[in-house]
Amino acid sequence: MFLEPRQLGFGNTGPGTGWVEVICGSMFSGKTEELLRRLRRAQIAHQRVELFKPAFDNRYHTTDVVSHNRQSRGGRAVESATDILAAATNCEVVGIDEAQFFDEDLPEVVRELANSGKRVVIAGLDMDSDGRPFGPMPLLMAEAEFVTKVNAICMQCGATAAYSFRTSAEEGQKVLGEADKYEARCRKCFLAGMRSRS
Ligand code: ZN
Repeated sequence: MFLEPRQLGFGNTGPGTGWVEVICGSMFSGKTEELLRRLRRAQIAHQRVELFKPAFDNRYHTTDVVSHNRQSRGGRAVESATDILAAATNCEVVGIDEAQFFDEDLPEVVRELANSGKRVVIAGLDMDSDGRPFGPMPLLMAEAEFVTKVNAICMQCGATAAYSFRTSAEEGQKVLGEADKYEARCRKCFLAGMRSRS
């Protein structure tokens, strides 16, 4: 659960003050639901909201951001991080989903957006299926005023899960998939799976 800074009343989050929020975690942890929840609340507050995702991620729909439980709202698929800068000029709140798939320019783009007074809300996988930091996520987490790590439930034992274990034989960091290719796993079950693979 995340309480928006403005409601909590801490810090100077008045008009013109930008900041960065990162929602990170494994697959099936509810990152996109949390992102959409925050954007929905901003819309209720009559703020102009834009949502972006990398064009690379076409699992469900090319222009709608859809979370695993099929909530959906309009979003723009962009080829590169710098495309977001031009497309976000007229909004107050910028949402970015699947941030791990963006190129290395994303941290600089996010900094520019926040420095110009925008609220930037980012969701992404913090670790890849080898348990290593994923793409620009570590830099984004360092830059953010607020980082929320959401956990899933281990699909092997029911414990708290922070890892995305790839059950398919494909190799490489960017392999798109859902429950057909991935399981959320706790540390112990993730390590057991990695050992049995090698
Ligand atoms: Zn487990």
